[in-house]
Amino acid sequence: MSKSTSAARPAADARTVPSDRDLRPGIGGLGTDETAALVAALGEPAFRARQVADAAWRSTAADWDEVTTLALPLRAALAERVRFDTVAPTTLALSDDGTTEKALHVLSDGRLVESVLMHYPAGAGRRERNTLCISSQAGCAVGCPFCATGELGFERDLEVAEIVDQARLASRRLAAVGRHLTNIVFMGMGEPLLNLDAVLGAAAALTDPARFGMGARHLTISSSGVVPAIERLTRLRPQWTLAISLHAARDPLRDLLVPLNRRWPVGEVVAAARAYAEETGRRVSYEYVMIDGINDTLVDADAVVRLLRGSGAHVNCIPMNPVAHTPWRASSPDRITAFATRLAAGGIGVTVRRNRGQEVGAACGQLAAEQAGEPPAPTVARRRERLVAESTAALRGERSVSPAPAGLDPASRARPPGSR
Ligand code: SAH
Ligand code: SF4
Repeated sequence: MSKSTSAARPAADARTVPSDRDLRPGIGGLGTDETAALVAALGEPAFRARQVADAAWRSTAADWDEVTTLALPLRAALAERVRFDTVAPTTLALSDDGTTEKALHVLSDGRLVESVLMHYPAGAGRRERNTLCISSQAGCAVGCPFCATGELGFERDLEVAEIVDQARLASRRLAAVGRHLTNIVFMGMGEPLLNLDAVLGAAAALTDPARFGMGARHLTISSSGVVPAIERLTRLRPQWTLAISLHAARDPLRDLLVPLNRRWPVGEVVAAARAYAEETGRRVSYEYVMIDGINDTLVDADAVVRLLRGSGAHVNCIPMNPVAHTPWRASSPDRITAFATRLAAGGIGVTVRRNRGQEVGAACGQLAAEQAGEPPAPTVARRRERLVAESTAALRGERSVSPAPAGLDPASRARPPGSR
């Protein structure tokens, strides 16, 4: 089942649409002072800034022309200078009996990004939760082989407003049915810590009581392990939850599953995460995608116990969502239970999660990957063969000989290939 919030459907192929970007900033990326300066520059009295902020952050308006609290000429002047929504048009697809809602957004240059809204009803002493999973980049440079976004490769960083507007849009949709957003997780497309400045700007907007106003403790940032960025985050001492995508505790296997490991090995990642927990007092959680016969043995579980023992960390085991182009599938429920039981016996807090929205591609990036089209069959076959060969070597304990992913340093992204 799907519906569209706009008449426009996403482009069939993000790579063939014009790459011109709309240079007007998004209102969702402006601070309170910047909004006030904008309103003053338009010759309006100061109290209008409050009305503009209310329209942006508190109303159900989806565009300037729906902001009826402002006079028409002012709406037109604002629309000329500032975009109300930087992630429209958006196509929605529902699954899990309507409790999971996947949004595919078209950015102004035609790039596609996804967000997923998950509804968890109240029960057993728990309040209702509405959690939004948001994207921080179009594509991703890290290239984890089981991830649909990794398959796309890096396209570009999102702007602050493009990140924040995913939450504003979901919040408006929820408000229409008398609900509100309770949690935001940076677990959509992209590696948030490789776009840290924009992610920090977005987190500031999302947790500012005068803007989005969500409690910092309801925000989770997930990272595949960019050590210098975790250290920078630690110095800021935020109250957000840090989630680390672990997926393997042994370097040879993690070199393959999370290629960032070739640059920052798992021991350094966990040391940085432990320091984050100590400085912030916030428990770090670890994500572990369960892949049949690859990272789900009891030897792997024991390696996780040795790595995380005494850190107070919590591990979430998630069955791998099927993604085209890999020879792998999810571990069986029995293997997942055996793995989780071993962690628990080793003193590690563990939860087995079910993946949501499988039929609409819950692993973020799957819808965008589908829109980008299937690579030719020989390419897929070669990729599968390579993964079988590399995982066999990794399971023998051999470290990867491939280089770390390119484009990890923002400065290096502008350099021509081969210039390093
Ligand atoms: N880049 C960040 C955040 C986005 S990915 C990171 O990797 O942490 C969010 C989570 O989805 C990660 O834990 C990632 O490993 C997981 N994921 C990606 N592809 C998946 C798949 N096919 N099945 C299950 N989880 C997947
Ligand atoms: Fe990037 Fe995260 Fe996907 Fe890895 S799992 S490719 S880091 S988005």
